[in-house]
Amino acid sequence: MNRRAGKFARIIIPSPLKEPLVYRLTDELRHQVAPGMRVVVPLGKRKLTGIVLDLIEETDVAGTKEIIATQDEQPVLDVKLLQLSRWIARYYSTALGQVIGTVLPPSLKSESERTAVATSSDFAGTGALEKKILQAIRSKKGGMRLKALQRSIPGSGLYPTLERLQSNGAIEIRDRWPGQRTRHAAPSVGEVSPPKSQPTLTLTAEQASVLAVIGERLENGGFETFLLHGATGSGKTEVYLQVMERVRQQGRRSLILIPEISLTPQLIDRLNGRFPGRVGILHSALTGSDRSSQWWQIARGNVDVVVGARSAVFAPLPDLGVLIVDEEHDPSYKQEEGLRYNGRDVAVMRGKLSNCPVLLGSATPAVESYQNSLQGRYRLLQMRHRVQERPLPSIEIVDLRTQLQEPAPRETEQAASLGNTVEGEHDQDGLISNRFAELLKENYKKSRQSLIFLNRRGFANFLQCSTCGYVLRCSYCSVTLTLHLDRKNLCCHHCNFRRPATRVCPECSQLSLSGMGVGTERIEKSVHRLVPEARIARMDRDTTGKRGSHERFIRRWEDGDIDILIGTQMITKGHDVTRVTLVGALLADLSLNLPDFRAAERTFQLLTQVAGRAGRGDDPGQVVIQTFSPDHYAIKYLTSHDYPGFFASEIEFRRELNYPPFSRLINLRIDGPKPDKVEAAAKLLAARLRLSQRKATRLSDVEILGPAPAPIRKLRNRYRWQLLLKGDPISALLDLAQHARAHLPRSHSTRLQIDVDPYNML
Ligand code: ADP
Ligand code: ZN
Repeated sequence: MNRRAGKFARIIIPSPLKEPLVYRLTDELRHQVAPGMRVVVPLGKRKLTGIVLDLIEETDVAGTKEIIATQDEQPVLDVKLLQLSRWIARYYSTALGQVIGTVLPPSLKSESERTAVATSSDFAGTGALEKKILQAIRSKKGGMRLKALQRSIPGSGLYPTLERLQSNGAIEIRDRWPGQRTRHAAPSVGEVSPPKSQPTLTLTAEQASVLAVIGERLENGGFETFLLHGATGSGKTEVYLQVMERVRQQGRRSLILIPEISLTPQLIDRLNGRFPGRVGILHSALTGSDRSSQWWQIARGNVDVVVGARSAVFAPLPDLGVLIVDEEHDPSYKQEEGLRYNGRDVAVMRGKLSNCPVLLGSATPAVESYQNSLQGRYRLLQMRHRVQERPLPSIEIVDLRTQLQEPAPRETEQAASLGNTVEGEHDQDGLISNRFAELLKENYKKSRQSLIFLNRRGFANFLQCSTCGYVLRCSYCSVTLTLHLDRKNLCCHHCNFRRPATRVCPECSQLSLSGMGVGTERIEKSVHRLVPEARIARMDRDTTGKRGSHERFIRRWEDGDIDILIGTQMITKGHDVTRVTLVGALLADLSLNLPDFRAAERTFQLLTQVAGRAGRGDDPGQVVIQTFSPDHYAIKYLTSHDYPGFFASEIEFRRELNYPPFSRLINLRIDGPKPDKVEAAAKLLAARLRLSQRKATRLSDVEILGPAPAPIRKLRNRYRWQLLLKGDPISALLDLAQHARAHLPRSHSTRLQIDVDPYNML
């Protein structure tokens, strides 16, 4: 390793601290410390874990303190991950400490997981302190946590003494990774099945030509981003697997990101089948020590493939040969709290820094990605046909304005009050058209499986008083409370506030509250009445709270133990079940009518994905899309499976309103507990930004929109205003965001959140 012996080191504490701190290196440490290593440093009265950013010869900082000790023999972050972290800090306008705090698994950020273990009983120790420490460590069979040692042996002598004892061979300092409790590199998700061996399939012509192009890049080396636009069921996964196989043959490693790991047990099976014992799975349900053990396994090159959701983009794989992002358009790649990064975009940058190809795959690429491919920044690869000449499902649109059994849900629900709905007087609750009801019964009779998609959980969307019109709202958020009959309560879907369900109006005290608007729970009841003999299951956030429940649902669905599966968007993703021949999307308008410039794109993507679940076996698939807006372009192009057609309309809309990809966006959100303070701060901030803008010509093209209250005005008892920066280039917007951070009127309760390339602006 090429270590430059500096006199000082800049250290990042993995927490939202702004600047790196400078520490002095002792002569001894100078030859051990390298960038990316964890070290113990004093900060005030505490001893903290820090990461070495770089080594420097000189510093202006007076009175630097010494680094106490190193924590590992090898860096936890390699040079590339450090570079990536610095890019992220700049691009997402965040402190580097916060970035590194996100990159590292929690247990590696503190001392809590490190244990000193006695390795030999020969050494008696010299000096009182050594003896005392040895005694303490030897008294515990499994070793002693450094945290506990620090408590029982205060003072600065601990770490140097531990170092000495370690070099004498008397003790060993271990993280909780292999050795102490050896773990298999791949604790599988859900029920562990002995991995079945998976044959490598003979590729279709389309798959083969895609693989040839990527294979050539792999052979020649270097960075390039591919956008694989492949129809649902065209065999994208097989392409990923064979790309990873080639990378493995080159002695390099692959990283594959998927939107949600628990929804894709099939992919995990296929990976385990192809790369037995060589797959690292980064699952958010892993406990702290499992996660740090995974981290070390991966960093030491003990796996060839890592699979995981968004944050797996930071997996410390050495010799990265390819990064793959499946369903690259999926909004779950965007982290919406803390460090607000987009895992897909970070993957592309990581590929660039690692000088290896990046493969983005989707049946419905993000508008930005497709535009990138048209402009030559990404290379477009296409697979238009399903494997084995299976047809794409036929999609028909049901116009809810004319084809509902009853007029429209809003009116029909007047009668559906809490009580009489439970009795079940209503057969269809207004959201299952006659056409779809017939198809559903028919499909059941043929012993085939049906999928029903409604992107709203609960029984009724809100409760309204039929006497005075009062609507029940969350006490902490400016949204309505959703009725859950299962649990007999009302629940806020934003902050989880709950109260018992009631029919008494808090405003006029009449017994006249009734449920309005349909959710999955209500549809489940309707479907039971419609097809009473069928095995029906509902999959949404209310039914998947327990660990492993996602996998259990998907496995039951695969095994054919469910005839009709009803659910929210979690049922739209990934699964490949051959007996599913009917899919119904009950209310396309839910996503279409959101106040968000991506509403049409999101709707087209969701509906194409859910439709794509149908007809993946020998029997063709049929899809029914119900909507009040059958003429909307996001709906029209669905029936012809025409993504380019949809894109052409959508890109025109974006161009007209100068939305991405024609401009860039940064959302500045100001929130706090006092509505007047938040409003004042937002207005002052806007005025100051406009002033900064007037002073600098390079900022003059940036539009500053607002300030305005956020669509969800209050969330978790905090009032919210926002300012949208819109324009080009992103560096000008970032400059303004920096100004905003510096200019926000000082107050301990009012916060500013900077959201670069925002997805959720509600
Ligand atoms: P996508 O990810 O594009 O929706 P999948 O990769 O899930 O599609 O493939 C759909 C189905 O086709 C899967 O059951 C898969 O095993 C099968 N398949 C993929 N490629 C081939 C092939 N070359 N020959 C035969 N079957 C294939
Ligand atoms: Zn709430």
